[in-house]
Amino acid sequence: MMTRRTILELATLGAAAAAAAPAAGTPFTLPKLPYAYDALEPYIDAQTMQIHHDKHHQAYVDNLNKAVGSDPSLSGMSVEALLQHLDTVPAAIRTQVRNQGGGHANHSLLWQSLAPASKSGKPGGALAEALTRTFGGQEKFEDAWRTAALGVFGSGWAWLTTDRSGKVALEQAANQDTPLSAGRQPLVGIDVWEHAYYLKYQNRRTDYVSAFYRVINWDFVNERFRALTR
Ligand code: MN
Repeated sequence: MMTRRTILELATLGAAAAAAAPAAGTPFTLPKLPYAYDALEPYIDAQTMQIHHDKHHQAYVDNLNKAVGSDPSLSGMSVEALLQHLDTVPAAIRTQVRNQGGGHANHSLLWQSLAPASKSGKPGGALAEALTRTFGGQEKFEDAWRTAALGVFGSGWAWLTTDRSGKVALEQAANQDTPLSAGRQPLVGIDVWEHAYYLKYQNRRTDYVSAFYRVINWDFVNERFRALTR
């Protein structure tokens, strides 16, 4: 039977081994929020933002570093590259990279793609045209977005994605799976894990989805679409 002391010794040995290993690239770090915790009030509350960013996202970063830090062959790879090439990630850490790396990449994009409601703007330029081509207009897109977000069963995300040709789509993903792993680029995604809304909205996911739409940073998403389809 493994005693507590033995487990602690093993943990210490593991840390020492990791410290002695060749540098495994820059560790992944938690990006700073580009606005104050309360900047998205009243649509997304400050306490949710603080816990979501400081605790949940930090945990994805820490666990990703634990997984990738032990494998020097992955040194220097971006989290996006890891997720785009999951099949080349060693099998022993592939699930951790998929889940924790997905969590890191998804939330890093999430913070950037939100803005105070007064600066939310709307889809414009080439993105507005692409939304019209695929969904028939912005209101129809908004309806389809809501349906996609509400239809995610359990924990996951709904994503607006594009390919390089500029064909946009709505996709649902379970857990922290990302469209990157399927060769598509996420433009903006809504996190429908309960940790993203439960403090304020409890079981009212419908209200959260509507509120989220009010704080999408469309200037950012428009520019991201332009850059990805250039
Ligand atoms: Mn989340």
